[in-house]
Amino acid sequence: MSMENQKQTIEYQMPDEQGFFGPYGGSYVPPMLEPVLKEITEAYAACRRDPSFLSDLAYYYTHYVGRPSPIYHAKELSLQLGGGQIYLKREDLNHTGAHKINHCIGEALVAKYMGKQKLIAETGAGQHGVALATAAALLGLECDIYMGEVDVRKEHPNVIRMEILGARVIPVDRGTKTLKDAVDAAFEAYLGDTQTQMYAIGSVVGPHPFPMMVRDFQSVVGREAKEQFRERTGGLPDYLVACIGGGSNAIGLFQEFLEDREVDIYGVEPAGKSFSVGEHAATLTLGKPGVIHGFACYLLQDDQGDPQPVYSLASGLDYPGVGPQHSYLKDTKRVNYVTINDQEAIDAFYVLSRREGIIPALESAHAVAYAMKLASQLPKDRSILINLSGRGDKDIDYVVETYGLPK
Ligand SMILES: *Cc1c(COP(=O)(O)O)cnc(C)c1O
Repeated sequence: MSMENQKQTIEYQMPDEQGFFGPYGGSYVPPMLEPVLKEITEAYAACRRDPSFLSDLAYYYTHYVGRPSPIYHAKELSLQLGGGQIYLKREDLNHTGAHKINHCIGEALVAKYMGKQKLIAETGAGQHGVALATAAALLGLECDIYMGEVDVRKEHPNVIRMEILGARVIPVDRGTKTLKDAVDAAFEAYLGDTQTQMYAIGSVVGPHPFPMMVRDFQSVVGREAKEQFRERTGGLPDYLVACIGGGSNAIGLFQEFLEDREVDIYGVEPAGKSFSVGEHAATLTLGKPGVIHGFACYLLQDDQGDPQPVYSLASGLDYPGVGPQHSYLKDTKRVNYVTINDQEAIDAFYVLSRREGIIPALESAHAVAYAMKLASQLPKDRSILINLSGRGDKDIDYVVETYGLPK
């Protein structure tokens, strides 16, 4: 794909001026944050119309990230399932090994255009932290990353990567010591100095303009995929499948297909160990509308409206909220939200590794698992496109120590 194609407009109908997708999204923040968010909103509005910003972004996507990522027909896996044809959008092949680099470079460029010196963020699996530390190194910005202590232990190699890249990793030991607590800590630190720092959110969550901005940067995935799939097969995929943590890789694939009513779309949430409180992170499936981290969305919450503890074996999926656009797409029924549990994800992790020689991230393995179920019920001429959001190298020790190798 040419750079010209990547430069085409990244403006969509939603959200509205205030950042709402139907009743979801918006900006529920303390008054002191309002002018800061307004500044970011205006800066981003200028960036997305600035030819030099768009050509910088396209340049880094092509020459640094390695875009476009290929679409791969997983023939062996499809054959084994005996049904529909599975295709993978290979975001795992991006520099740093996942889709997150797409929005991190975008956010870092916005910070740069705003004259900020430091990026600040939370991270779950460490993937956002690594991608952001990478973008910071690339663009000459400082970088502070807040990470729950549980995740620091579980994702040790990513901690080392961030430190090698020159970022400061700050462990967070409050609450469940995972992603949600890291967000709180990072937000507090950001409030301490909004003049020289820019918050770079790791998914399509948070107050306006973040869900829109991150979505726009990720939408390159669906734009490429549509063109690649057409070139390859002459048509569109019948199904799209992607895993949902906050929802950035999913909306990145879905956005360009939302108007194509013939394409059925599935977002896959982690069912974890069970549907008991604290054993899953199936927000859209089991949550109710609420407010978290400055925006309205489906939320796993207690009777007081406070976020409930969440769990998934995939650190990148354990968030009690979810992107406002996904909340809206659930209510309008344009996207189907389904679940996959830990064991199904582990099975898919090994099947894809052994059938296709591709070790998926545990997050992505949720999408693969659902696509496998779907494929086995479909005729052979139907197609499913999965967003393979990341590679599984970060998960190999955890998987083998916890689940062992299959017989
Ligand atoms: C972070 C992460 C996810 C989940 O985040 P989304 O915003 O829902 O995409 C999924 N896959 C990988 C590989 C990740 O690193």
